[in-house]
Amino acid sequence: MERQKVWVPQVEEGFILGHIVDLGTEEVTVQPTDKRFKPITCPFDRVYPAEEDEGKDVDDNCGLMYLNEATLLYNVRLRYKRDQIYTYVANILIAVNPYTEVKGLYSSAAIKQYQGKSLGVLPPHVFAVADKSFRDMKVLKQSQSIIVSGESGAGKTESTKYILRYLCESWGHAAGPIEAKILDANPVLESFGNAKTTRNNNSSRFGKFIEIHFNQQCSVVGGYISHYLLEKSRICSQSKEERNYHIFYQLCAGAPDSLRQQLRLAGPDNFHYLKQGCTQYFLQPSTVRTMNVNRISRDQQTKGPLKDPLLDDAKDFIEMDKALQTLGVSDRERLAIYTIVAAVLHLGNITFEDNPEDSRGGGRMSESSGASLATAAQLMGVEKEDLHQALLSRVMQTAKGGYKGTVILVPLKPTEAVNARDALAKAMYSRLFDYIVTRINQAIPFQSSSYYIGVLDIAGFEYFPVNSFEQFCINYCNEKLQQFFNQRVLRDEQTLYQKEGLNVPHIDYVDNQDCIGEHSGVLCENLIVVIDNLLLSLGLILPTDLIEAKGSGIIDLLNEEAKLPKSSSAHFTAAVHKNHGDHFRLGLPRRSRLKQHRELRDDEGFLVRHFAGAVCYQTALFIEKNNDAFHSSLEALVQESKNPLLKSLFASSDPNVNKGKLTYISVASKFRSQLQELMGKLESTGTSFIRCIKPNTKMVDHLFDGGTILSQLQCAGMASVLELMQQGFPSRAPFHDLYNMYRGFLPKELARLDPRLFCKALFHALGLNDNDFKFGLTKVFFRPGKFAEFDQMMKSDP
Ligand code: ADP
Ligand code: MG
Repeated sequence: MERQKVWVPQVEEGFILGHIVDLGTEEVTVQPTDKRFKPITCPFDRVYPAEEDEGKDVDDNCGLMYLNEATLLYNVRLRYKRDQIYTYVANILIAVNPYTEVKGLYSSAAIKQYQGKSLGVLPPHVFAVADKSFRDMKVLKQSQSIIVSGESGAGKTESTKYILRYLCESWGHAAGPIEAKILDANPVLESFGNAKTTRNNNSSRFGKFIEIHFNQQCSVVGGYISHYLLEKSRICSQSKEERNYHIFYQLCAGAPDSLRQQLRLAGPDNFHYLKQGCTQYFLQPSTVRTMNVNRISRDQQTKGPLKDPLLDDAKDFIEMDKALQTLGVSDRERLAIYTIVAAVLHLGNITFEDNPEDSRGGGRMSESSGASLATAAQLMGVEKEDLHQALLSRVMQTAKGGYKGTVILVPLKPTEAVNARDALAKAMYSRLFDYIVTRINQAIPFQSSSYYIGVLDIAGFEYFPVNSFEQFCINYCNEKLQQFFNQRVLRDEQTLYQKEGLNVPHIDYVDNQDCIGEHSGVLCENLIVVIDNLLLSLGLILPTDLIEAKGSGIIDLLNEEAKLPKSSSAHFTAAVHKNHGDHFRLGLPRRSRLKQHRELRDDEGFLVRHFAGAVCYQTALFIEKNNDAFHSSLEALVQESKNPLLKSLFASSDPNVNKGKLTYISVASKFRSQLQELMGKLESTGTSFIRCIKPNTKMVDHLFDGGTILSQLQCAGMASVLELMQQGFPSRAPFHDLYNMYRGFLPKELARLDPRLFCKALFHALGLNDNDFKFGLTKVFFRPGKFAEFDQMMKSDP
């Protein structure tokens, strides 16, 4: 007999094939088939059996005999090589970014093809998931949501766009006005909310949940977009080789002459806020192979280091401007929007220096900044002097026995003035972004909606050499989504078994929101193990409570810290450790790992053990980054602006804000309540999951980087899902499907039976092992790989 082939972990490839040469008590040694590799020794539970047929890939991974992360990785690899970027794991769709156009994959013909087809009838596709959501909505009379996840550059936003197109093209009024507007929201959102980063040339720097609303007849009637956490730091500074938001460059490159003059625009090199990532701005030639390659520079206006050869800023400006028009944004409104964008740029060019004449250490504006100040003030509709004063001083009010005391002006140091300037720029731009989303929503209103399909496109779990507040928020969000994913996959599996009357005892899934009790109830033997593993892999305790609990959670500790007269990140960090020192999920900052960085002291951060791995957060800027308010002189300035749009952007501010007092508006609290609302929506809908995978970090086509892909699959929780499936009956087929598929192979007498009896008779005749399948009410359920075996039997030996 041939030796059993196994998969053994290997860093670059993820897993490689080999056979066992030595068995220890806890470890095994495997000789890789590829003799370039030396024997590898690893723990038992990291070695997985390999499928017999090395050349066979399957549409649905559950068709394999062995369901584990190694066979999944190999199946995905085989398919990717064959330009099949989609693979199912039961109802979950895995999508590998091809970084090139796959011919015909998203054509209108393809859209037609997928309409009304059950999942699995045609090759895996985002369209199939979109269609399933639509059919579920129609049949179950329940709203649906599609959760698209993955790391930056994995293809979430592109997948989201294909889903929206599928829904709008299929069930709109043949690209009627509402559908056109829903689709036109994208170029606008991308101009204002996307930027070039080192990981994605068109990276969304905000999360969104787009709802497409349908009436009773299931036609599209409108839409609604919610957005989350626009990255604000980018407005004032960018890392090396990254850009600010597209709109800035588009406006500089694409604005017609009159507008350029009116807004005093020039090339991006002239604006401080646009050129901080500019060193070696051009991409390496090897990365110029993405889909956008045909878009290379027809743009003649932005030259120099800030021109990204992959982006045609001038053309994109025209496209975005058109999209705004389609959305019904008037000439005047568009001018107002561009004016604020330009104002941000001019504001950024105002610089400050020490003022030797000021005895209190205050700074002054650099002489060269006069023109920028004048332009910024003019565009903002404020007096030059007022802007000047608001940037260089802060109003303080002395309180006297409950009465408002005298107002004094405290001069700001040059660094403080820079902070004030940046805070103003960030507030203006992020509120403009809010306004644009609101404006889009006004353009796609719906009077009576019966159901909706929501698509969530939000950044996946992330960790970098240094992680700050932004990563903390996004990982908190992913933790919640993962918790939801686990519950759903488990619950859906269970509901299906129950609905089909399968004699599989009830599985008690526990909502393990940090205080897991005993899980009681009758548990299916096999499944107990799996659920235990699942809970174990979740660490039994989820960090969501650690983060969000009222009072003692990290978010509230952060808010409390900010209210203290002398708040400090060290004090905040100490409070976190003090409150949660014994929490399984919280740890002291990890020191040795970050060789290239200065080591963190205990009071400089904390470590959270997330489902996808431990992340060390540096808390230095948590308090500042969490604050959405800025000092009141600035607030007063914009509130009295003669620019109506600017004024309205700040009109909603809390009227109770005491003048002269620094207010604190917590970003994390807002995000927490937004997330709560989102989770509420997700819980009330039927859900589908799309896990996007980035094949390599070079952003090129046809390069499968096994190691990083494996870790993405693990982060997406796929290993636990496969384990769950391996213990159950992952392949299912309706009786009538089997009947239609196989009746031709069998004698006429058998074909006269009804589909259920037909299947029973067939299985009996073939002598299938009773343990390999179960009969439900409408379907047969197979143990892993058994359906494929049966299919093989039928086709080779009729
Ligand atoms: P994410 O939103 O996950 O950060 P994007 O959806 O922006 O990633 O994808 C990054 C880039 O990858 C896109 O700009 C495009 O060039 C390419 N890409 C993504 N999905 C596909 C696809 N299905 N077909 C071809 N190229 C794709
Ligand atoms: Mg994106």
